[in-house]
Amino acid sequence: MASFNLNLPVLQNWDCHNCGGCCKQHLIEITDVERNRIVNQGWTALDGIVQGKSVVEKMGGWFRRPRWRLAHQADGGCVFLDDRGLCRIHAKFGEAAKPLACRIYPFAFHPEGQTVAVSLRFSCPSVVKNLGRTMFQQQSEIRRLATSVVPQELEKGLAPQINPSERLGWQEFRWFVAALGETLSDTAVPLVVRLRRALHWTELVGQAKFHKLQGHRLREFLGLVQESAHADIPELPELDQEPTPLGRLYFRLLVAQYSRKDTSADLTTGLLGRWKLLQAIWKFSRGKGNIPPLQEAFRSVPFAALEMPYGPINGEQDEILTRYLRVKVQALHFCGAAYYDVPFVEGFQSLALVVPVTLWIARWLAAGSGRSGWTTEDIIKALSIADHHHGYSPALGQSAARRRVQMLADSGDLPRLVSWYLR
Ligand code: SF4
Repeated sequence: MASFNLNLPVLQNWDCHNCGGCCKQHLIEITDVERNRIVNQGWTALDGIVQGKSVVEKMGGWFRRPRWRLAHQADGGCVFLDDRGLCRIHAKFGEAAKPLACRIYPFAFHPEGQTVAVSLRFSCPSVVKNLGRTMFQQQSEIRRLATSVVPQELEKGLAPQINPSERLGWQEFRWFVAALGETLSDTAVPLVVRLRRALHWTELVGQAKFHKLQGHRLREFLGLVQESAHADIPELPELDQEPTPLGRLYFRLLVAQYSRKDTSADLTTGLLGRWKLLQAIWKFSRGKGNIPPLQEAFRSVPFAALEMPYGPINGEQDEILTRYLRVKVQALHFCGAAYYDVPFVEGFQSLALVVPVTLWIARWLAAGSGRSGWTTEDIIKALSIADHHHGYSPALGQSAARRRVQMLADSGDLPRLVSWYLR
């Protein structure tokens, strides 16, 4: 077994509060071994399982090696989720009998040299609300879970690239991550300023070559780009710089990806479902008229209604979004193996976009309830909807989505979107 240190997110608390949300919104893929174990557990109507229906289902086409997932109920919830929101496998056979994906959630583990960085998925409402014990209090349980997923030869993994042409060792890579954490945690200035400063200096890093910069010179370089961001982004930037029409178009297409619900029930809606999705994407690309509600949480409201100011965010809302960014950065949950193998700079640009995406969705939730300002509950719900996809929806890792992020960064629309939707 590989021995490793844990890099725990000190800011974050969590415990399961049995909301059952993860068992309703995620598609649970299982291994062949897990499939056999679950099938052999002998589920019957006495356990509350509908007879004549398999508890596991095959995924993919007939021409591929079979992959398996847990079957679902009519509402999209897992076949093992009972009326009280509890897991039948857990209740009957104990926690260890559940699929690994269920035991791990909402944790995510990312090797970094001889250390494993621990992240959490903000699709879980208890994570967004910071409810439960600290990560230090759960250290031994977290280590046990990490041991079941980390590769044997941890030290062989390379650090993510910094930009498309540069890759450094783990120690140097960590300096970049620490610098990003430092910029994002400077709560003396509003979140909009911190994000724009971070985008500013990471853009410079995206263009840099490091072959002549080693050791203290690399650290000096990081200090200089951070200073230049401080000098160029004043403490109170102009917040009403509108994104360009093209920037808005790319952004709406991105929001459409983040607003979808991809449960197993949604996968079975067939041709009609795909036709509806195409129509929705067409409406998002036009950005006129009413927004098609992509899941039950949303109402149909005019696109134009979401362009008004809904903020600014208050201290509690700032804490949620800041904690989200800091946990993802510290745990490397934004680049490399944890995020479609993209370099540090591109990964941070994608992560920064989650903030305007979340606030667009929060506007949508507020407008759907007839309000013209967001509440903390809107932001909590919006962040859990957005983070459900971030790093987990294959569509976000495809070249079209990655090109859109690149164009938003190159055109200068990315910082404008951050300012526009944080207002
Ligand atoms: S097996 Fe249990 S924990 Fe896993 S999704 Fe189903 S109900 Fe939830």
